[in-house]
Amino acid sequence: MKTAPSIARIDTFPCTYGTDRERMSFLYVRVTADDGSVGWGEVCDSYGCSYAGVLAHLIDEVFAPLIVGQPLVSVDLLADRMRLFTRRRLGDAWIAPQARSGIEIALWDLAGQAAGRSISELLGRTADHVEVYGSCGFLEEGPAEHHYEVIRPLLDRGVRKIKVRTGPEWHSDLDTLRKLRPMLGADVELMVDASETYTLPTARALAEALTEFDVRWIEEPLPQSERAGIEALVAHSPVPVAYGEHMFGLDDALDALRRRQLDVLQPDAATAGGISEARKMATAAPAYGVRVVPHVCSGPAALAANLHLAASVPAIRLVEYPPTLLPVWETFGDGAPLGLDSIVDGTLPVPTAPGLGVSISETACADHPYEAPGARVAGTTTGLPDRFVGDR
Ligand SMILES: [Mg+2]
Repeated sequence: MKTAPSIARIDTFPCTYGTDRERMSFLYVRVTADDGSVGWGEVCDSYGCSYAGVLAHLIDEVFAPLIVGQPLVSVDLLADRMRLFTRRRLGDAWIAPQARSGIEIALWDLAGQAAGRSISELLGRTADHVEVYGSCGFLEEGPAEHHYEVIRPLLDRGVRKIKVRTGPEWHSDLDTLRKLRPMLGADVELMVDASETYTLPTARALAEALTEFDVRWIEEPLPQSERAGIEALVAHSPVPVAYGEHMFGLDDALDALRRRQLDVLQPDAATAGGISEARKMATAAPAYGVRVVPHVCSGPAALAANLHLAASVPAIRLVEYPPTLLPVWETFGDGAPLGLDSIVDGTLPVPTAPGLGVSISETACADHPYEAPGARVAGTTTGLPDRFVGDR
């Protein structure tokens, strides 16, 4: 039997990339084996990786020493080692599983390369293409015409599911949506993301108002932590309710599934603790009648990891695809095409190369040094109202 390579080192690459719209940070993770092979992973905090410097430090100080020197005989064994050695001190929600995710994905990349198979093939690949939905901007960012211009390139590639975002001024958001809806065409399904903005009474009123638009789901209407409020909403909401980008592993998902606190589960392999943990979450959901649609909102390694997740869980038929991140994928990603041109009939090909199928350009990382966010907070762009006040 071939001896498994051992992990020689783990390096972190925090970066900040500026678009016209905003500055976003990302954290890429490189794991090097003693045979010289290299695996890439990525950490997502639900919106890039805003505090990439903090997460990089967590990897350097806490998780890398637990993995360096270990043989790569089982990714799941090493993922357990990271979790079980730290959970009683650092917990297993938020930044700890986010950081572990970056290493776990890189370990899968290495394991796939060693086996000469893609990650999804290693896990049992059930699809070569996955349908994507266009995950678009906040309605307050402009008139319906502006949103249509953003969405049109996706429609041209056959994408037929579009998500838009509502904010504190949700009445005017609905006015914009009323103008946008007919522009999209009757065959386009619509979803709405509320980014944890509302209290229960507002979430109820919005869900009721959204019946006018035949919406497939309303996402994170209340803060994820307000579980009792979410449960009350889901019990009577006229539109399905989606949560999951702030869920950290199977226990978290099972808790919400058992209490019926969601209709759509949105795990993210770069957030929840890794590809295996996100697969456990995704595999549990259908037993509760819950749909699974992975969350994607970060760099190219996170997108690729979630494509492999989708392609290895039969219940997953759809994945998030935010077009604002196209320049990020283009700048940092080498390997499998992830851009608009690679979308055929609304579906994106799942990478076929051994491992993740996408690596990260170290030159691009060096060209985009990390800037700590300071008072710049994720999701807030110039001139927008303060999201975190919500309707309170
Ligand atoms: Mg979301």
